[in-house]
Amino acid sequence: MSKMSKPLIVPLLFLSLLSNQECKQKSTQKPQPSPQTKESSLASEYSDNWQKLREAMVKNQIEARGVSDPLALTAMRKVPRHLFVPEKERSESYNDYPLPIGKGQTISQPYIVAFMTEQLGLKGGEKVLEIGTGSGYQAAVLAEIAAQVYSIEIICELADSAAARLKNLGYKNISVRCGDGYQGWPEAHPFDAIIVTAAPGKIPRPLIEQLKPGGKMIIPVGNFSQELILVSKLANGKVEQKSVLPVRFVPMRGESEKR
Ligand code: SAH
Repeated sequence: MSKMSKPLIVPLLFLSLLSNQECKQKSTQKPQPSPQTKESSLASEYSDNWQKLREAMVKNQIEARGVSDPLALTAMRKVPRHLFVPEKERSESYNDYPLPIGKGQTISQPYIVAFMTEQLGLKGGEKVLEIGTGSGYQAAVLAEIAAQVYSIEIICELADSAAARLKNLGYKNISVRCGDGYQGWPEAHPFDAIIVTAAPGKIPRPLIEQLKPGGKMIIPVGNFSQELILVSKLANGKVEQKSVLPVRFVPMRGESEKR
């Protein structure tokens, strides 16, 4: 819980920002990236202005709150978050809150993406499963570190657009599938790490089963009030859980709602 002992305002801030997520809260330091046109080349999508916004995001929102894993920070500095949100949200894409991505879903706050990535303790070369592809942003961050990322999204339209986006950006180590993530991805298991970005009422058993001994899973659990739970499967197969942060994610749909 050392993370929690940093500023107590972090989870509170996060909760208050989330509760405001529909009202498009404006940042005090509104970024002014250069206007992007549909025709803009990939090179300009990675332009200096966006890079500067990413640097500021990492420094002020992520490092300032105690995330220090160099692999997670490097990935957050690299992935072009503005290309994972609808065009009208782009100017806000590096701000300190989640944003709508369509179909009633959201891309998580940058700090939460970095925090969850750090909790997995990746060193490079792992096989990772994500439940809740959404925009594909978290999958891209993971793919900067891991060898292979498998990601499942229950809304097929989001799965298709995320898969196309990730392909356009050149990610070759991410497989996206449309379906209910409750059952995990049996053909590809076991996984070194599992990340869940929609909240079930309780942890789906198949996900625990598909975790490798020595592996970690980070998952928001709960209905209205949720906790981010870090699940560790020890080398002897024993499973330990600890609560690391209060959060607010969209609910996990499908099978999990019947349990
Ligand atoms: N990780 C995403 C944000 C996720 S929002 C990103 O980086 O953009 C949570 C997503 O989980 C939503 O897109 C929602 O449709 C999806 N979801 C909800 N229940 C699910 C389930 N049972 N299986 C797979 N995806 C699910």
